[in-house]
Amino acid sequence: MAYRAGRHFLQIPGPSPVPDRISRAIDAAVIDHRGPNFSDLGLSVLSGMQRIFKTEAPVVIYPSSGTGAWEACLSNALKAGDQVLFYETGQFATLWKQMADRLGIETEFLAGDWRNGVDADRIEARLRQDTKHAIKAVCCVHHETSCGITSDIAAVRQAIDVVGHSALLLVDSISGLASVDYEHDKWGADVTVSGSQKGLMMPPGLGFNALSDRALEAAKNGGSQRSYWDWQEMLASNTSGYFPYTPATTLLYGLREAIAMLEEEGLDNVFSRHQRLGDACREAVAVWDLQTVCQNPNEHSNALTGIMMPEGHDADRVREVILNKFDMSLGTGLGKIKGKAFRIGHLGDINDLTLMGVLCGVEMGLDLAGVPHQSGGVEAAMRFLSR
Ligand SMILES: *Cc1c(COP(=O)(O)O)cnc(C)c1O
Repeated sequence: MAYRAGRHFLQIPGPSPVPDRISRAIDAAVIDHRGPNFSDLGLSVLSGMQRIFKTEAPVVIYPSSGTGAWEACLSNALKAGDQVLFYETGQFATLWKQMADRLGIETEFLAGDWRNGVDADRIEARLRQDTKHAIKAVCCVHHETSCGITSDIAAVRQAIDVVGHSALLLVDSISGLASVDYEHDKWGADVTVSGSQKGLMMPPGLGFNALSDRALEAAKNGGSQRSYWDWQEMLASNTSGYFPYTPATTLLYGLREAIAMLEEEGLDNVFSRHQRLGDACREAVAVWDLQTVCQNPNEHSNALTGIMMPEGHDADRVREVILNKFDMSLGTGLGKIKGKAFRIGHLGDINDLTLMGVLCGVEMGLDLAGVPHQSGGVEAAMRFLSR
């Protein structure tokens, strides 16, 4: 393929663009993972991730995708035959549930419309019927990347507690962590699953489980047969900054840099930057007279925006035009909304002018693909950002 000048715009909601500082940090010699210099690195990223998850409890780091971290969570906390309640926020909730099905877990799906987040009242009502506490866990996606919807995890914890139910709360915040606020301890999550390639601005390849005492207890007394994913073995080595098997050393260099960058900017500033960019993007969508996938104004994601296409217009055709003409990758519609929606990623290492470039590409793409819309979205976002 011929060289294309200028930087490619990778505006999918993960992997997000990797900043130079992180790429350079990764480009360093591999060291002995059992040698004397390794433990500083190990201890630094393990404690750093506790600060990012906002937890006092241990965080486990796997050389894996987010999907691997899902499996780690399920196989440590649950076993085949356990009853588990999932909530259908979108494609990622659907895939996580399918994984649980394959592991022999008895899943129940509270059906959703992919345009609204978790309704904690429905979880409360379901748990109220479960007087024998047969349900061992409630699984929710905090930040549903397929639709651009956040859910109120503290409200889910409250729904469990108000019933006095013993179910564990297992949360996927693979794309939420480090792009929108997430508080593992305060919100009462037992396990939070995450990955490196979204808000953490890293390449793919690291998976995370933030734990709680109750999750550790459940794993000690039960869980599935497991080996690679076992928390106990990990935690035993982690106390001295080491890992039971070869870790992804170079990605850990990158993670150390990512944590430093997030803390230099300040997590609260990171979240308000995403809020501002999310607001600006939604201003543009409103002027285009298109609909966001998310219908509840209190649940909009600030890390990505899902945009519905008018009837009869193929979202993937718009993406194709934009990729070919402007060298920008946008997220495809997944699962039930394939072809009906596309997604603009605005998470990670991005600023006002990155977003403006992105919105220009989208507005020009809508024109070229013949999608009916009002012009002026780009100007609206400019006015918003210069106010
Ligand atoms: C990206 C993502 C996943 C899947 O992570 P992989 O690294 O692709 O395995 C799962 N859940 C959510 C919410 C995600 O955004």
